[in-house]
Amino acid sequence: EWLNISVVKDLKGGILNYVAIFSDITKIKKSNEKIEFLAHHDPLTSLPNRLLLKARLDQSIIHANNEKEILAIMFIDIDNFKIINDTYGHSVGDIVIKDISSIIQDIVGDKGYVGRYGGEEFLVILKKSDQYDSKKLLEEIRITIENKKWFFKDSPVTVSIGLLNEAKNTSFNNGFKVADELLYLAKRNGKNIICHI
Ligand code: GH3
Ligand code: MG
Ligand code: MG
Repeated sequence: EWLNISVVKDLKGGILNYVAIFSDITKIKKSNEKIEFLAHHDPLTSLPNRLLLKARLDQSIIHANNEKEILAIMFIDIDNFKIINDTYGHSVGDIVIKDISSIIQDIVGDKGYVGRYGGEEFLVILKKSDQYDSKKLLEEIRITIENKKWFFKDSPVTVSIGLLNEAKNTSFNNGFKVADELLYLAKRNGKNIICHI
């Protein structure tokens, strides 16, 4: 609500009345919120985009360093996604991206942040992780995706994962770079696997 109050005065300047005009600015507020949301989220999955992820990771790194907590950074990429797009079309590709993003979000829950880093790539930041927990969680993600029955094909859709455990004193760019290199290793070693350090 926008409230505008004007003073009504007589000829000598004495106050006679106040006139208050209210206007409903819900629409303006809503469209500002929408613009703000779109600047920081991916429209297909509603996940945080690269910009928001970077801000969250920078914040998590500072917090983890202060609290002596250990972060894990993981990079998840859908295997042979181009083939899915080329064979079944882009709209089916979009459904795969959305469904996989939901699986990842459900499993990560409030243990960390999930974002869509790029086309068919997701970045996950795990707070307070230890190696055992993050590997277990990633294995659950990998298996859930592998076992999902897709409406358009019998064979599985799989993901490869790069996992940087104990990302201490790192920056967004460094942490991301190492997780990306590990992902590349997973792809080179046959896909549908997790490479970690
Ligand atoms: P790899 O197993 O090595 O990861 O191979 P790939 O085919 O999955 O990977 P590549 O990076 O070569 O292809 C990714 C493709 O994802 C290319 C691009 O057209 C497609 N893509 C990116 N964003 C979207 C999207 O929002 N929707 C759909 N349907 N496709 C997308
Ligand atoms: Mg891929
Ligand atoms: Mg890719």
